[in-house]
Amino acid sequence: MRLPGVEPGSIAWKAIILTVGLQTPVMLEIEVHHHSLSFSNSHVRSLSTNSSPSPLFSITNPSGVEEKTGIPMKGSKVVLKGMRYPELENWVQSHGYRPGQALMLWKRLYGNNIWARHSEELEGLNKDFKRMLSEHAEFKALSLKDIYTASDGTKKILFKLEDGLVIETVVIPCRRGRTTVCVSSQVGCAMNCQFCYTGRMGLKRSLSAAEIVEQAVLARRLLSHEVGTITNVVFMGMGEPLHNFENVIKAADILVDEQGLHFSPRKVTVSTSGLVPQIKRFLNESNCALAVSLNATTDEVRNWVMPINRKYNLEMLLGILREELRLKHNYKVLFEYVMLAGVNDSIEDAKRLIDLVRGIPCKINLISFNPHQGSQFKPTREEKMIEFRNILAEAGCIVFLRPSRGDDQMAACGQLGKLGEIQAPLLRVPAKFQGALEASL
Ligand code: SF4
Repeated sequence: MRLPGVEPGSIAWKAIILTVGLQTPVMLEIEVHHHSLSFSNSHVRSLSTNSSPSPLFSITNPSGVEEKTGIPMKGSKVVLKGMRYPELENWVQSHGYRPGQALMLWKRLYGNNIWARHSEELEGLNKDFKRMLSEHAEFKALSLKDIYTASDGTKKILFKLEDGLVIETVVIPCRRGRTTVCVSSQVGCAMNCQFCYTGRMGLKRSLSAAEIVEQAVLARRLLSHEVGTITNVVFMGMGEPLHNFENVIKAADILVDEQGLHFSPRKVTVSTSGLVPQIKRFLNESNCALAVSLNATTDEVRNWVMPINRKYNLEMLLGILREELRLKHNYKVLFEYVMLAGVNDSIEDAKRLIDLVRGIPCKINLISFNPHQGSQFKPTREEKMIEFRNILAEAGCIVFLRPSRGDDQMAACGQLGKLGEIQAPLLRVPAKFQGALEASL
């Protein structure tokens, strides 16, 4: 397989095979056999042991969690936050209790400002029911490790998972009563976007639905008194959410349940780097909002900065959106465009972007690049971002400039995670852009 700008057999080549060729088991076997991988062993294991023809949907279960008849288990206990309401109701009934008691439990897990983490916090439930829960149910999926506060009030929460891995969740207070929690869907990420710190980690594993849901629950429980009501959820933390499709969809269903956390579906946004088949499924199966990280106006640039584009190019990505959104009423996709100086921020880029999104109901967020250790890109100057924005706006696009939030605590977009000894490689810079990158330094 030949890839432009990448030597066959090089480390970069192997990383692309892993990130782009995840649906090709033969390629995976070759790479696992060679063992010179820039990803963790757990990632290799999760790929190599999977015999499904569609490994993008294979989820490595968190340590100690097994799936039995669709009900998430930890040892002999069910994981309460891994169940949609009908599943919880069935499980409660299977233990001889009434549906009304299931609803009371659900409301104490997710509503009424209780956010229970222990059977003792279930005020008003009968003693037998509480005893049964303490014997057969697990309330917790995460434990708090640390909270950092950036100078602009953004909070980065570090959570420890059962298996010792750490994820990051960010709470971003905004004006006008809107506060957003940015949740992670994986530990690390397989997509290797070149501007993203998380991408350098490689993929360690995907999160369970309970681990995703509990980030939002604990953000409310820990921080509501300080930041006010958390109104919005964005799946823009660590990981590619649609690479963990089933658990992300399940978590989104739990987040929007009207008797529980009750986030509005339009205020729960799932972001993707552009996994085309999963986008189609998402638009058909979920009412939640979709964001697509675009970041380039040509395949040449996108192949480099977002290697997933070598599998699903701009035409395929924008084609599926154009086709699917025709069937959805009153729905706009959000395009995110991280502005990289000298790479994707020219006037020609602005004009191409207008052409690319024509016919797609959308909003566009222009995002300031957040530098991190080892990053080769520089942020576009503010005046240039404004000029770029104005060109789009004059052509009739709905476009916003998004300032960086929380960057002094590495809590900003693309800055989450911690690099281990083994890192995903930086891809070779296409010759055409080497000068531009040097000039922007
Ligand atoms: S930008 Fe998103 S999809 Fe790309 S590497 Fe980072 S976390 Fe993964």
